[in-house]
Amino acid sequence: MTLLAVTGLHKSFGGVMAARDVEFTVERGEMLAIIGPNGAGKSTVFNMVGGQLRPDRGQVLLDDQDITHASPQKRFRRGVGRTFQVAQTFLSMSAVENVQMALISCHRQSNGLWTPARERHREKAVALLSQVGMVEAADIPCSALAYGDVKRVELAIALAGEPKLLLMDEPTAGMAPRERAELMDLTASITASQGIGVLFTEHDMDVVFGHAARVLVLLRGQIIAAGTPDEIRQDPQVRRAYLGDEHALERPKGLSPA
Ligand code: ADP
Ligand code: MG
Repeated sequence: MTLLAVTGLHKSFGGVMAARDVEFTVERGEMLAIIGPNGAGKSTVFNMVGGQLRPDRGQVLLDDQDITHASPQKRFRRGVGRTFQVAQTFLSMSAVENVQMALISCHRQSNGLWTPARERHREKAVALLSQVGMVEAADIPCSALAYGDVKRVELAIALAGEPKLLLMDEPTAGMAPRERAELMDLTASITASQGIGVLFTEHDMDVVFGHAARVLVLLRGQIIAAGTPDEIRQDPQVRRAYLGDEHALERPKGLSPA
């Protein structure tokens, strides 16, 4: 069964068609990238999948269930997770405490009410940190971690919700090229092994072509191309859409400017 199926999505803001007839699928364990120039409609589409925006028309199906009009909270319970930046207020907490907080809010159960907060879900939180290679930093405040390591903690927090589909809006923004590749390699291996589908938007073409199984190209709200990274790189319409950026599509992996 297809994990995510989006059909005929439309969204307009006044006179601006931010999304028109957008259709795509994401399978379990697959990473799908949405790319396109600024204003192409990437965030609009992304937010219609996450539930922050309601489409004017069209459907969003998760595991064949219609979630088009479900709230973000309801989608989250159905298995739509997303990465969030560790909030400023939580930077003073350790990595493991941040993941514990996520687990506590996911479970919202009363069992363990009498367990001190410090112990609640600690084992599971440590296991999640170990998955992202951060177990040794478990007790270090997030404020003392390198940026790339905070991003790993954010990934562990997202995984705490046991998502079937993980939404990542520009996951590597602000990171150095090497850290970007590492974070995306990690994301790819965890999500593939757990059968989690990933939908992400990204500016960095090395990340897109190096990590996406398939790529959707949006232009003025419409999908102008969809295919494997190789197919997208060869597509003349995509090259025209990215004219100013054409070399970004050609640049061999690993040769991006620092
Ligand atoms: P992208 O993420 O690809 O840069 P967006 O989805 O943010 O593009 O925007 C697509 C188009 O919709 C743009 O023209 C943008 O100005 C417009 N738009 C997006 N969100 C809103 C909004 N809340 N109100 C009005 N216009 C919006
Ligand atoms: Mg955007």
